[in-house]
Amino acid sequence: MSDWEKNVRKVTPYIPGEQPKCAHVIKLNTNECPYPPSPMVAEALNHGNKEKLRLYPDPEAMELVSAIADYYNVDNNQVFVGVGSDDVIGMAFLTFFNSDKPILFPDITYSFYDVWADLFKIDYITKPLNQNFEIMKEDYMGENGGIIFPNPNAPTAVEMETSDIEDIVRENSDVVVIVDEAYADFGDVTALELIKKYDNLLVVRTFSKSRAMAGMRIGYAIGNEKLISAMKSVKFSYNSYTMNMTSIDAGVAAIKDDAYFKKIVSQIIETRERAKKELAELGFTFTDSKTNFLFAKHNSIKAEVIFEELKKKNIFVRYFKKPRIDNYLRITIGTEQEMQQLYDAVREIVDMQSD
Ligand code: PMP
Repeated sequence: MSDWEKNVRKVTPYIPGEQPKCAHVIKLNTNECPYPPSPMVAEALNHGNKEKLRLYPDPEAMELVSAIADYYNVDNNQVFVGVGSDDVIGMAFLTFFNSDKPILFPDITYSFYDVWADLFKIDYITKPLNQNFEIMKEDYMGENGGIIFPNPNAPTAVEMETSDIEDIVRENSDVVVIVDEAYADFGDVTALELIKKYDNLLVVRTFSKSRAMAGMRIGYAIGNEKLISAMKSVKFSYNSYTMNMTSIDAGVAAIKDDAYFKKIVSQIIETRERAKKELAELGFTFTDSKTNFLFAKHNSIKAEVIFEELKKKNIFVRYFKKPRIDNYLRITIGTEQEMQQLYDAVREIVDMQSD
């Protein structure tokens, strides 16, 4: 090992789901939206003023911040925007998780949390979900340096009630509690209402799932103005110009087309509820998903086998070879047609295995 290598920061990076290069793939592996973004986004991109690209963007991304603030009826200074919610959550870790006590998050959850904790040298303890893959609020009542969990949780798709979230936030008033609501638009619960009452709550959301814009990279956080101001100070000490002009324009257009947003979200929910029935008939059991994916296990065929067999048929789902969940598949809800192809493919696999 060269001398300089000893001082290289050692990290094990987060591994995102595969982005297959070949065409004709049914891609149900990274929880993207199967529908295009609002037509108003295309319009904003086509008709945007290209000449202005020679200038730096507004580091505060105020147009987007203010569109989001109007939408949720909060002040501009309660909104922070970033390059996807990954960027926003990473900034929040850096800003808020600085105590000498460990932060807490579930043992089965978004697999980026431990990566950020390691990168920023933040001590952490994971709290096991119960047998039904539920977060146990009692586990989050002891001393800690901060808390983060997604609601609904990923990859389990299980949603926690608002009153349980409120208990956690209230009992931890000396630290920041981050609720990652990447999938909340597909569920029944949001912690946004609690922001008025608790200054230690940060809610993080994304345009990647329900607004069909994973490629644009837009995420945001809503919280008390002191939290947002602290995040901005950290962000502006690192890189001011992360939100590029096209993302800002496209994001504003997406927020303004609320009818389209509601239409695609309800379509995905409808397809999800149908998928629950279809996959149950094919021998799957799953948690009661409140997201745009199902977390499913087959009653006789191993998840890894189904994963591999589906891949051979050009259908990509997600499989995590990890303790407690290595017999589950995470299946993103696609279009009705894509889901029909999934059911047909699974039926063939089930028939083949039972021969
Ligand atoms: N949180 C959760 C729970 C997620 O599943 C994802 C998607 N990988 C993200 C945050 C990040 O999404 P994005 O950076 O695209 O906003």
